[in-house]
Amino acid sequence: MLLRLLLFCGLATVATSTLAMTLYKSTDAHGEVFFSDRQTPGAQAFVIQERRTERVSRPVLERPKPRYPQPAYRYPLPWRGGPFRLTQGPNGSFSHTDAKSRYAMDIAMPEGTPIIAARSGVVMNIENEQVGRGNDASGNFVRVQHDDGTQGVYLHLKQGSVSVRPGQRVRVGGALGLSGNTGNSSGPHLHFVVQQHTEAGLVSIPYEFNQPVGTLPNFALGN
Ligand SMILES: [Zn+2]
Repeated sequence: MLLRLLLFCGLATVATSTLAMTLYKSTDAHGEVFFSDRQTPGAQAFVIQERRTERVSRPVLERPKPRYPQPAYRYPLPWRGGPFRLTQGPNGSFSHTDAKSRYAMDIAMPEGTPIIAARSGVVMNIENEQVGRGNDASGNFVRVQHDDGTQGVYLHLKQGSVSVRPGQRVRVGGALGLSGNTGNSSGPHLHFVVQQHTEAGLVSIPYEFNQPVGTLPNFALGN
């Protein structure tokens, strides 16, 4: 035990020892000042010390990596053209009142506006044959499963315009179809919603576009 203690003290001494060097400052016969590592009579001694630090010799890879919080995904605008305006936002009193559509946004735009994927993923299902109001309140739509498990849904598309099929992988900006006025829609617009499966079923979740979208008064462009 004593041996181990002595050994430990020895190691500790090495770890904290310093590199020291003594220089001597002298003035020669011509008045020139010079420094030497040899001591001469009347020379002024300087001790230069450099602390030996363990950190310097450690590999760079051992440094702990800083951790940053992951920023929430911000959705690029899922259409080409514009600028278009928001007519009903999250918690809109006209039709964004239930769990599946609470955080949806309605953007008024002319029928036939190209609708593009705001986030990459795999197409889950589509509807492409509905005429007018039809039987499904969603009208024609594309539902994309994102890699984080959330789903982006693009509603009220124009009949026959959906250009993707279930199982197809889409990238950000990839064409999905054209905007329309099908299903429970009282004017040409896109209803874009992000949803997630929870214990309470499929619910909408808040999302943000990556740039500001202007707003118009609610012209009762529904659902
Ligand atoms: Zn809506």
